[in-house]
Amino acid sequence: MSINTEYKADTAEFDIIYQHALKVGDIGICKWNMDNDEMYIAEKISGYNLHTAKNIAEFLDIIVYDKDKDLAMQDLEDYLNGLTIFYFSTFRVKIKTGEIKWVLVRGKIFEVMGSRILHVIMFNVTGNKLHEGHDPLTNLINDKFFIRKLKNSIKAAEAHKKRGALIYIDIDNFKALVNNYGFWFTNDVLIHFSQALNSLLGHHQELARWHGDKFIILMPSIDGIKEVEELSNKIYEHFKKPLKVFEHYFNIRLSLGVTIFPDDSSDADELIKFCDFAVKKSKQLGKNICTFFDKQVSESYFRKALIETELVNAIVNNELYLQYQPKMDILSNRVSGFEVLLRWYNHKLGNVPPNEFIPIAESKGYIVGIGNWVLEETLKTAYKWRENGYRFKTISVNISPIQLKRRDFMSNLLNLCKKYCIPHCQLEIEITEGTLMETCDENIGIINELIEKGFKIAIDDFGTGYSNLSSLLEFQISTLKIDKSIVDNIESNRNKVVFKSIVTLAQYLKFEIIAEGVETKNQLEVLAELGCDGIQGYYFSKPLRQTEAEYFLNKLA
Ligand code: C2E
Ligand code: CA
Ligand code: CA
Repeated sequence: MSINTEYKADTAEFDIIYQHALKVGDIGICKWNMDNDEMYIAEKISGYNLHTAKNIAEFLDIIVYDKDKDLAMQDLEDYLNGLTIFYFSTFRVKIKTGEIKWVLVRGKIFEVMGSRILHVIMFNVTGNKLHEGHDPLTNLINDKFFIRKLKNSIKAAEAHKKRGALIYIDIDNFKALVNNYGFWFTNDVLIHFSQALNSLLGHHQELARWHGDKFIILMPSIDGIKEVEELSNKIYEHFKKPLKVFEHYFNIRLSLGVTIFPDDSSDADELIKFCDFAVKKSKQLGKNICTFFDKQVSESYFRKALIETELVNAIVNNELYLQYQPKMDILSNRVSGFEVLLRWYNHKLGNVPPNEFIPIAESKGYIVGIGNWVLEETLKTAYKWRENGYRFKTISVNISPIQLKRRDFMSNLLNLCKKYCIPHCQLEIEITEGTLMETCDENIGIINELIEKGFKIAIDDFGTGYSNLSSLLEFQISTLKIDKSIVDNIESNRNKVVFKSIVTLAQYLKFEIIAEGVETKNQLEVLAELGCDGIQGYYFSKPLRQTEAEYFLNKLA
């Protein structure tokens, strides 16, 4: 037996089906003859008298909640202008009792006897999570609906050459509240908070729950920044008083972030990202303040974010390489060794200087992998140079304090030296003065162990803040590298005295002194006169590619 799935009813039968559907379900039906403005409306959701409406636009004007009118009208226009295949819209209806209902609208134009008829069906979807745009906890609109509204407001602002604003709100102390009061109770805090916040807004401003304890306000049209400042002040003023939730009182502290559209961007997702950035800035600045998004500051933020993502794959993509800067012995005028300097070329970012990416690698934990790579490449080079008969006293690598503190640092280093047959005394570990002075037993232990095993230790950037000469007595370091900032002004009497006293100490403790960043002949001469052992700097040579360094070695060593 075959079943006919397409049941064809005649018009009278259809009317009966309509009537039944209207009685049974929470729906509305409307037909609009677009050619003679005849309307047929049967609707049970709103309770309004809709019979005065002569067309769908008038119908929407009566039924749609004020805050959603623009969006609802836009959806209709988009369909009538052929931008969408169906007429599709979601909006809120404020019914007579003041209660808000969510409706979903679908419609399509049919040609009936030469006339164009728009058939519209309206469903009450309140409580239906798939369709509606509301956040069940706070009863505010949710993120998805908010984005639709935002996109619409951006379009309108652009069309009318106006501006709008977004205020992103993050409760600073929310985590602490959850920890103290538990999840369920803090849900009540969110409900009370959102109601209080919502009560501060004007007629056309809209508050949405973004996610968790994050909220966002849309100001679709503003006359000036002052209006945004006023609203943010009003919010801070209001939450100076504790928020009462049942019998408890809470001090709510808020970080706010503002973006202005279309000035900052006319892309909804980007605006949200910018808001989020501005809030992060507020948090960095000590919380409980409002930050306006600033493109310049954000560029550094996005660059940092890009560095973070690109750096993860820098090793596997072969983007890292090493340069070698010669160190010159002042007395013999010969290369005594090289400092290994890490370089990164990335196709999106170009050359990124180590001063920029190493702190990021450290904070993200990538420095261990990168540092190990540098160590192994350095030892490979040293192996090759030894095999080729080049003579050099030491090759120096910069080691980050994070690398140094790793339990496996020492065993890894010993294994690599063994693998590439490098005598420990030929490898110099450069650690900054700051790392050395961190009064941390771990550091002291590992540095002493390195010295015991025969590695050379150089103290880098000496003279940049700590200047605690006496603590140098604790270690048998081999080299002190005097920071460029001292070398830059070596002609000044003060720096000459400082330098001379370091030289005296060096002679007593038997370590070498290398001056960093020597750029002029004059600096070299003063340093030589003061008794400095070696120099490193552009005056003698910039950091070199491996082959160039080999050329140097061939010539000078
Ligand atoms: P640093 O260890 O103090 O390295 C010396 C820096 O001064 C290098 O910058 C070098 O190119 C630069 N320099 C040398 N001579 C002169 C000069 O005459 N004039 C001027 N203006 N600059 C000079 P670079 O290569 O940009 O490295 C910056 C810092 O990045 C290094 O400072 C070091 O702290 C860090 N770094 C570099 N490579 C590594 C590495 O492999 N691992 C770790 N952990 N840090 C590294
Ligand atoms: Ca160094
Ligand atoms: Ca240095």
